[in-house]
Amino acid sequence: MSLSLTLLGTGTPAPLVHRAGSGYLIQLEKESLLFDCGPGTIRRLLETGISPTQISTLFLTHLHYDHCVDYGYLVLNRWDQGVGKIPDLEVYGPPPIQHMTELLFSENGAYGPDLSGRTKHPGSEFIYEMRGGVLPRKRPEPSVTEVAHGSVVEKDPWRVTTAEVVHCQPQLTCLAYRFDTSEGSIVFGGDTAPTQALTDLAQNADILLHMCHMINGVVTDSRITDSCSGHLDAARTAREANVQTLVLVHITEQLEQTGIRERILAEAAGIFSGQIIFGEDLLNIPLGTISPEKIR
Ligand SMILES: [Zn+2]
Repeated sequence: MSLSLTLLGTGTPAPLVHRAGSGYLIQLEKESLLFDCGPGTIRRLLETGISPTQISTLFLTHLHYDHCVDYGYLVLNRWDQGVGKIPDLEVYGPPPIQHMTELLFSENGAYGPDLSGRTKHPGSEFIYEMRGGVLPRKRPEPSVTEVAHGSVVEKDPWRVTTAEVVHCQPQLTCLAYRFDTSEGSIVFGGDTAPTQALTDLAQNADILLHMCHMINGVVTDSRITDSCSGHLDAARTAREANVQTLVLVHITEQLEQTGIRERILAEAAGIFSGQIIFGEDLLNIPLGTISPEKIR
């Protein structure tokens, strides 16, 4: 069984051409899953050669728009192109993801008129039939499950475990996920300040994707240090969780300046002795030890 992790988006709410919002692709054999789908991540998905119709399942860490704004696009595009021949998308996330889904896709939702047109207008029916669809056309109905700290989603051959992390409570519930298979374990930390809950969730994982939103020591205002992580926070969590590889994500333009990027990696390596990867969009993250012998 093969397991692959690709970073689709490694950015923040600040718009950058080379960094989409948060989003990650897991491919396990023939199944493809997304963790978060921030702005631009579905375009990045196309760049990997994967169509939205191939995504079976979406996990959302929290409902900040830089993590979920492509949700509408994902559901509509895979429904439209799937022409009734693929199951509805399975969605897991914190409340109010069920309410958000209704606000988007119900009769009176934001896309209500679009969906009425696409399911009832003769021109849309023609295109639907040309794509191989059989009338009458059903509306999209994502299968939504709200999850919380301790929730486990078990779907042979993978299991996802949920932990609540510390970011934007009480307005938003913010989660981290651990994806376990026989091929390895990948932890998506979501957006968070340092918290024991994430350290516990990530114990002995192969890969930890951790927010690196700032340079520790440069930003000291507790309003941000109590809700976000910097490079040293990420390194400490990776060390305490004893993971093999730390991937820094949720990266601002400030952090990738020449000289700053190197300083961040060097300082993080002073704390965490495992592999450290500075996240970039479309980077495929290898499982296991990166061997220098493979370099030619
Ligand atoms: Zn974010």
